[in-house]
Amino acid sequence: MIVGAGFAGAKAAETLRAEGFGGRLTLIGDEPMRPYERPPLSKDHLRGETTDVPYVHEPGFYADNDIKLLTSTRVTGIEPGMRELLLEGDRHLGYDRLLVTTGSVPRRLDVPGAKLEGIHYLRTLADSARIAKRIETGGHLLVVGSGWIGAEIAASARQKGCEVTMIEMASLPLERVLGPQVGQIYLDLHRDHGVEFLPETRVELFDGDGSVERVVTKDGASIETDFVVVGVGVAPRTGLAETAGLQINDGIVVDEHLRTSVPDIFAAGDVANAWHPFYRRRLRVEHWANALNQGPVAARSMLGQDVSYDEIPYFFSDQYDAGMEYSGYATQWDEVVFRGDVAAREFIAFWLKDQRLVAGLNMNVWDVSDPIRELIRSRRPLDRRDLADPDVPLSQITADAADDAAGPEPPVEALSAWASEGGSF
Ligand SMILES: Cc1cc2nc3c(=O)[nH]c(=O)nc-3n(C[C@H](O)[C@H](O)[C@H](O)COP(=O)(O)OP(=O)(O)OC[C@H]3O[C@@H](n4cnc5c(N)ncnc54)[C@H](O)[C@@H]3O)c2cc1C
Repeated sequence: MIVGAGFAGAKAAETLRAEGFGGRLTLIGDEPMRPYERPPLSKDHLRGETTDVPYVHEPGFYADNDIKLLTSTRVTGIEPGMRELLLEGDRHLGYDRLLVTTGSVPRRLDVPGAKLEGIHYLRTLADSARIAKRIETGGHLLVVGSGWIGAEIAASARQKGCEVTMIEMASLPLERVLGPQVGQIYLDLHRDHGVEFLPETRVELFDGDGSVERVVTKDGASIETDFVVVGVGVAPRTGLAETAGLQINDGIVVDEHLRTSVPDIFAAGDVANAWHPFYRRRLRVEHWANALNQGPVAARSMLGQDVSYDEIPYFFSDQYDAGMEYSGYATQWDEVVFRGDVAAREFIAFWLKDQRLVAGLNMNVWDVSDPIRELIRSRRPLDRRDLADPDVPLSQITADAADDAAGPEPPVEALSAWASEGGSF
């Protein structure tokens, strides 16, 4: 039984069958359609460039693989003692092994006027369609928050010709994840495309007659707007897990095999706070690749295979013509070393702590995430001049690193609860 028919749940179901599981397999989700991927919802989907739903599988996949897919079905409780799920409408379903992939939900702003019409949040296909329709009408969009979701929505709305103001508590977009140097690159990117960015600004209240007409900030400024999208992070959807008495701490606590504190219940994806063998700490990662890779590991673990999840975190973002990939995990570093042309937005940024690579970001430079992750894994002290010099191939730096034994443990103090600090989608 898998609860949560999102990306992690769908990949887990696929893997269970691929690994030869011949028993009954049910995938339950509360959305009305079969599982889909969310990244396009703030990009081409939001801009109306495609109406194709980014489904994870072809329509016949679930029937062909004897996977019972229950859509529009909300699970309201788990009773581990009885090995039962409670469904809306007082239905019960038994399970032998259960995977919880309930994902996350946008954090809501709790300020006066927050329930006015025209204030949007983006998580589902339906949210994306609603906002896309509003963007199509044009006007002034105010985006609250300049994390990945806020920044991508701002970019898409500008590309569609809306006036866009982005307000942010920090000084720069994405600053908490990327720091001031790369945050400044994103600020320049948005300003170059005509976004008005208001730093160190918080919402005091929304005002309007039925629908939002203006936002009043904590410092008393009043900003007229036609509609608002709030992107201030997400929270793991743990309500269901709590009914089962699973250990919860910023998500469902799981070990490296993605097992929860209750036998035969597993968790994966945005909702899982998993022990990471490489980092030697728990990580909850709210990114596409984590759902892609954790779902299958959870499935194999459910089948009793000795597998653990130790992928280096990875995510991507597209804003205007700036595509980027980020690998690693870091909140503290000694320096950021750049390779390439920062002004042209074609570069790699390397975050170094104690001369070791803790994260790398490549913007409009491709096929380098694998070497970046290899270098992170090597834990080897690196020469900043080699990293900065485009004439020294990354493959050479990686080969040198591979020749050495793995270095000491990573600087754990460089890591923190990054996902909940704005590193998330
Ligand atoms: C707009 C948007 C853009 C994004 N862009 C990127 C990107 O560019 N790059 C990137 O790396 N990541 C991106 N992400 C993040 C990525 O999509 C998520 O990390 C990923 O979807 C997580 O998958 P999941 O399966 O864990 O959770 P989800 O996709 O949230 O799926 C969980 C499912 O479980 C269902 N559910 C929850 N509770 C219950 C219940 N009690 N009963 C039944 N069903 C339930 C939910 O409705 C949902 O369908 C983006 C996310 C969003 C919202």
